[in-house]
Amino acid sequence: MDLLNTLVDKGLRRELPTREEALAVLATSDDELLEVVAAAGKVRRHWFGRRVKLNYLVNLKSGLCPEDCSYCSQRLGSKADILKYTWLKPEEASKAAAAGVAGGAKRVCLVASGRGPTDRDVERVSKTIEAIKEGNEGVEVCACLGLLSDGQAERLRSAGADAYNHNLNTSEATYGDITTTHTYADRVDTVNKAHAAGLSACSGLIAGMGESDEDLVDVVFALRELDPDSVPVNFLIPFEGTPLAQEWNLTPQRALRILAMVRFVCPDVEVRLAGGREVHLRTLQPLALHLANSIFLGDYLTSEGQAGKADLEMLADAGFEVEGAGTTTLPEHRVDAAAAGGCGTGGGCGSGDVCGTSAEAGAPAEGDAAAPGARPDLVAVRRRGAGTDLAPNA
Ligand code: SF4
Repeated sequence: MDLLNTLVDKGLRRELPTREEALAVLATSDDELLEVVAAAGKVRRHWFGRRVKLNYLVNLKSGLCPEDCSYCSQRLGSKADILKYTWLKPEEASKAAAAGVAGGAKRVCLVASGRGPTDRDVERVSKTIEAIKEGNEGVEVCACLGLLSDGQAERLRSAGADAYNHNLNTSEATYGDITTTHTYADRVDTVNKAHAAGLSACSGLIAGMGESDEDLVDVVFALRELDPDSVPVNFLIPFEGTPLAQEWNLTPQRALRILAMVRFVCPDVEVRLAGGREVHLRTLQPLALHLANSIFLGDYLTSEGQAGKADLEMLADAGFEVEGAGTTTLPEHRVDAAAAGGCGTGGGCGSGDVCGTSAEAGAPAEGDAAAPGARPDLVAVRRRGAGTDLAPNA
């Protein structure tokens, strides 16, 4: 297919595809799916080989958020039966993080529900970061605490944070339909603050919220412009008790086309397969490893993922290897550019939830008609790990 040859050439040169080309990837048919995966897989292997970076989520503070992000089980008014707890102590968070690192995770992502941290919260998280760094040599720590005020990114950086996550989630045009308590511009501002403080920026999207192909292309082009080092691609987990509980819009094939489009638009960036992979990709998960070079190991913020052991087996069976702590994830040119304080690609490439790493909305409420293709049976509320007495999944 001419389209795919063009996109591979551009991906290898870090050249931005046109919007039409990105839209055309989303419009390909299921019959063309393997060709699309193979083409985007060439770009993935050129920049990242067969390595897969494992990331581990620790939910530092769960539920009871005053914000109204429609996709989120922790939102204001959520009826989802999730774990609710206040800040974990540094030693509790460090114990949870250590389980992830022992399972092969290279990065620990510390997430807290809420609009954004107070200065006292930043102090608390700083102590947690220090405890994790002390107990786990070489581990990368990413914080995901919501909208940042002036000076907070610098304080997290001084405490040893390597990265900051804040997702754009959806296009600017539809942002107001998803959340009313903060704006798209607020989110862009926080990603820029993280960048400016020398933190590696992580910012991604949630697919499956009823958006159009144009919206998806808009948000991915906006991410490229923002130039994060990692781009998590979440697939909405429609959670019981949230406004998007009926939004079962994705097929495994559609999820793969979305990942391929993201890879073509952000070829040399860490594309992370994030929340919803088990629910929406199901048995096609291994194909997604040809597109994404990074995944979350184990559980998500409020829902359970497949067993960490199953993640590792899937990866090995599909012919991929876990990226070791001594290996640099990003291609050299991006690392050099970051050290110089500049954009990672020279071409402007770039770059969940205010907290942002998992898009967990729930199963249809009892009595509601299930949407066609709905798989609420695959959504399991997290009942183990951080905030419980049970061992974490890693
Ligand atoms: S995504 Fe974050 S800010 Fe939004 S409702 Fe959920 S916890 Fe709150």
